[in-house]
Order: sequence, then structure tokens, then C-alpha cells
Amino acid sequence: MADDSLPVRRAQRPRGPRTSQACTRCRSGKIRCDGKMPTCSPCADRGHRCVYSAAQKVRGPGKR
Ligand SMILES: [Zn+2]
Ligand SMILES: [Zn+2]
Repeated sequence: MADDSLPVRRAQRPRGPRTSQACTRCRSGKIRCDGKMPTCSPCADRGHRCVYSAAQKVRGPGKR
């Protein structure tokens, strides 16, 4: 079977800066965060201190 006309699927995903990052306060309060730096709109509106924590998706080795 010679399939030289195989349709190549190219998954093009626009890789850009993640602007949908929610700050800790918005995340805990389930508030829609616009990811504004250094202070997002919800936080700035309430005068809260906006804190962005780095996404921790790495599991430490040897920890149960
Ligand atoms: Zn926020
Ligand atoms: Zn915030």
C-alpha cells in the first residue's frame, strides 16, 4: 500500500503569551481575571494586592 497522498495534518496552535493567567485572588474567588499586570482589574478595583503565582505543574520526584 503506497499512500503517498497522505493528507498531512498540521496542528497549528498559536503559541503566544498566556494572557489568561488568573491571579491567586481571582482564582480562589472564581473571578474572571483579565491577567493584567501588575494588578488585574478586579484586584485594582477592590484595592487588593494582585499576586500571580507561577503555574506549578511539575511534580516533585520522590514525594508521596
Ligand atoms: Zn485577577
Ligand atoms: Zn489580581
